[in-house]
Amino acid sequence: MRVYNFSAGPATLPLPVLDEAQRQLVEHGASGMSVMEMSHRSPAYDEIHSQALASLRRLLGVPEGYHVLLLQGGASLQFSMAPMNLMHPNGRADYVVTGSWSKKALKEAQRVGEARVAASTAEEGFARLPTADELDFDPDADFVHLTSNNTITGTQWHELPETGGVPLVVDASSDVLCRPVDVSRYGLIYAGAQKNLGPAGVTVVVVREDLAERAPDTLPTMLQYRVHAAKDSLYNTPPTWAIYVLGLCCRWLEGQGGTEVVGEANQRKAEALYDAIDGSGGFYRGTVVPADRSWMNVPFRLPEEALEQRFLAEAAEAGLVNLKGHRSVGGIRASIYNAMPAEGVVALIQFMQEFQRTA
Ligand SMILES: *Cc1c(COP(=O)(O)O)cnc(C)c1O
Repeated sequence: MRVYNFSAGPATLPLPVLDEAQRQLVEHGASGMSVMEMSHRSPAYDEIHSQALASLRRLLGVPEGYHVLLLQGGASLQFSMAPMNLMHPNGRADYVVTGSWSKKALKEAQRVGEARVAASTAEEGFARLPTADELDFDPDADFVHLTSNNTITGTQWHELPETGGVPLVVDASSDVLCRPVDVSRYGLIYAGAQKNLGPAGVTVVVVREDLAERAPDTLPTMLQYRVHAAKDSLYNTPPTWAIYVLGLCCRWLEGQGGTEVVGEANQRKAEALYDAIDGSGGFYRGTVVPADRSWMNVPFRLPEEALEQRFLAEAAEAGLVNLKGHRSVGGIRASIYNAMPAEGVVALIQFMQEFQRTA
């Protein structure tokens, strides 16, 4: 029996995508072989690869002047690749620190060059995002980095900060394609696929063409954005199966009506869950300031840890799994990405109400 899987990542995938992948697993189309067995230089794979890229471009509304790349190494490699490619010699970068992932990104940038904290909400346990007044941007920085959705603490930037012409580099691993975005406001967007896009093993990078050219020639070939751009992300063997499934997920998203429609559905799912938390008379408690609440990762607490343990165990019995908060923060976290159906959120809310009645 399939469960409602609230995992933060790898996360639930659309059932029609899994069904389609299963149908095509052994023989893809008329090729007589599995996608996993195809040469990445074959016309059959080329079609899969270019369709996945085209669908991503349509969904993101990528304007002229941007590359869309499919890379490996996860978002974690982008913590290094972004500064390696975008920082000028003796340059500087500004980091907005809003959680563990942005801390890790900062740490890697500091191995590359001078990376500075432009704002941090660490003192408040990352329970909110910095206000516009708190953002101390260096107008001469090579870029500003931020994490658009903080997967662990459950905050999300609902409006991008103004950086005054300094390119914005955004880790959108847990909220890419959760609603329409204006790509032209970004210098670079990166996202591991395994949260809101598809399976693990592929990382999507959208990078402005001029920024992809900044890297020094001494940078190892595989780390240069411009190499992957020039080769349509086929410089070396790509993760073909992951890209195939990513393409199916993108096609499914387009079938749902694209980011406009899916964004509205995501907002409704998140609001319903937050309403259930806020309407519980204090039994369930949200952990971040309401204005910065994430649509993707919804963390909350119960009155006692023992009750949380019972909540998790009984939820799992009811087919609602992976609701345990990240080990660094505890409590409950429901990850409700694009592929989580509204019915899953409804089932969770009903379970929460029932649990509270009997607690
Ligand atoms: C999961 C996550 C990462 C790490 O992704 P990997 O693909 O495992 O390297 C980075 N940033 C954010 C915001 C994440 O949620």
